[in-house]
Amino acid sequence: MLSTMQDVPLTVTRILTHGMTIHGKSQVTTWTGEPEPHRASFAEIGTRAIRLAHALRDELGIDGDQRVATLMWNNSFHVEAYLAIPAMGAVLHTLNLRLPAEQLVWIVNHADDKVVIVNGSVLPLFAPLLPRMPSVEHVVVAGPGDRSLLDGVAPRVHDYEELIAGRPTTFDWPEIDERSAAAMCYTSGTTGDPKGVVYSHRSIYLHSMQVNATESMGLTDADTTLAVVPQFHVLSWGLPHAAFMSGVNMLMPDRFLQPVPLAEMIERERPTHAAAVPTIWQGLLAEVTARPRDLTSMARVTIGGAACPPSLMEAYDKLGVRLCHAWGMTETSPLGTMANPPAGLSAEEEWPYRVTQGRFPAGVEGRLVGPGGEHLPWDNESAGELEVRGPWIAGAYYGGVDGENLRPEDKFSQDGWLKTGDVGVISPDGFLTLTDRAKDVIKSGGEWISSVELENAIMAHPDVAEAAVVAVPDDKWGERPLATVVLKEGAVVGFENLRTFLAESGVAKWQLPERWTVIEAVPKTSVGKFDKKVIRKRHADGELDVTVVV
Ligand code: AMP
Repeated sequence: MLSTMQDVPLTVTRILTHGMTIHGKSQVTTWTGEPEPHRASFAEIGTRAIRLAHALRDELGIDGDQRVATLMWNNSFHVEAYLAIPAMGAVLHTLNLRLPAEQLVWIVNHADDKVVIVNGSVLPLFAPLLPRMPSVEHVVVAGPGDRSLLDGVAPRVHDYEELIAGRPTTFDWPEIDERSAAAMCYTSGTTGDPKGVVYSHRSIYLHSMQVNATESMGLTDADTTLAVVPQFHVLSWGLPHAAFMSGVNMLMPDRFLQPVPLAEMIERERPTHAAAVPTIWQGLLAEVTARPRDLTSMARVTIGGAACPPSLMEAYDKLGVRLCHAWGMTETSPLGTMANPPAGLSAEEEWPYRVTQGRFPAGVEGRLVGPGGEHLPWDNESAGELEVRGPWIAGAYYGGVDGENLRPEDKFSQDGWLKTGDVGVISPDGFLTLTDRAKDVIKSGGEWISSVELENAIMAHPDVAEAAVVAVPDDKWGERPLATVVLKEGAVVGFENLRTFLAESGVAKWQLPERWTVIEAVPKTSVGKFDKKVIRKRHADGELDVTVVV
């Protein structure tokens, strides 16, 4: 029997139309570094998105599912692009402006981007690469910047404001199949070529509903979210589309991502929610510890993208800011799990739940797979690789203009689940605890040591700012942990002392690292995560001054 329900497609067009009318008064506030930030209502943003769609179609000739790329910070221009490009049936391709030049060029060519909308402030980085991006026919420059950098290197250059000015304020949006491509994002790719994840209208729509669900971020039009997580990193964790769906006000930091301006925008604009990777919160914590600020408006913060050290969560609890841990990937749109504890628990009872990566929403199924391919029980002890599936989880990677989409065996199971490469355990009530990336686990004498657990334990020491632990070769054990430690300003602490601290905090004796080194900063990836392959390379190249303590 067929249902009697209407078959209305779930599209970004709907999100745009809804947001600009029903939530027309909600605002996007963009930090500019000027005394006053830039403010625009959803009604204004929606109208400008419609004008942008006209400009792209009528002036630049964008048609069908051609790719329009963005090389931009988080700001209102970028939100307009997020709405206009998918709604007109084209594909929004967000480019990560922190990627090495070679990768950026590779990605633009692979995606066959026709247009790049670029913030003026990013031109010094972008302009020199353009001659190596033959598919790009038009460059649209948004916001202040030295446009002369494009002289002689760009085919056709347009000023964003001039391009959209005076164009119609309604658009006869195409009928879109909800399964068709709306946006794409390449994974930062630690090995091999970057891989393109292509989101559909349907996946974005469903994911946006999940972001707003009370069991996830629980955002409404009473909220202002500070979206620190870049719009080029998994669509800013889905926040702009989710915000337009529910009228959530957005505070966009543009390029002002340093602790001082972040603290200032939080104090001045009083966001109720924020989202960013742990590195950002570590930096802000150091700043507000040195110069106290009122962060209490920001009652809830979504933290993910890398494991959140429990000590960081504790420090923010003391500041009246509750960090809620979430796990996801570019391939999972990214919302996979969120650590909202079950109802009815005391603060003390909630704690063990809060430090997990969280539980799956109904739209995401998870399972653990052991080394022999067997499915493991949810007993909080059996560790295996996490596999997931659901309507906003990737089932393939983009194969390029002439190629078929790719389903490499190491990334997708035979029955279509995504192999995450993350290793962990799941409790009987469905809370996921990740112990490591499969490739970061330390295999010592046949036993596994979690680099993340060691890092969390070291970072709980009051003199430690950051710590990253990697596996290094060991004649006797195969691999042993190397602890690389960043000390807080002015702190002096011996490695013996740190080792004793770890032992006292419950780290098993055989897991205690013998190899220690102090570094100035933990190297970070393009999206602000610990870049352990750089540490491993530095060690292999003999660049680290390692002390052995036993
Ligand atoms: P990306 O696709 O660049 O966002 O990277 C996804 C990867 O980040 C995941 O596969 C995890 O290894 C890691 N990750 C994301 N969130 C968390 C988290 N809450 N705890 C630990 N690792 C995380």
